[in-house]
Amino acid sequence: MNAIDLKSELLHTIRWSLRGSCGESGCDDPECTCSVCAKPIGVPEDDPRWATHSEYCEDCDLCRDQVPIMLFRGAGDQTKQARFHTSCFETLLTKKVVAS
Ligand SMILES: [Zn+2]
Ligand SMILES: [Zn+2]
Ligand SMILES: [Zn+2]
Repeated sequence: MNAIDLKSELLHTIRWSLRGSCGESGCDDPECTCSVCAKPIGVPEDDPRWATHSEYCEDCDLCRDQVPIMLFRGAGDQTKQARFHTSCFETLLTKKVVAS
């Protein structure tokens, strides 16, 4: 990915987390939710929709946010992280990133 150009006027709206997330999809812990919309990212593994999901699928509502976009800031034990839905992250970008 090229250098990310974020809208500076939106940077202060990002909720940074010092603790980091637990990594569970669909977790609604405030440390794990999207830093823009504060909603859970991903679909929990026990969601019944996964039962009918194709393992070859690459893009649907279930797959799309399984891998959240993450940003890091700071260093050492002061490192903060923020997690985003793909669609939420795009609202922060100065230029629209064209998905390949
Ligand atoms: Zn969590
Ligand atoms: Zn979001
Ligand atoms: Zn899918």
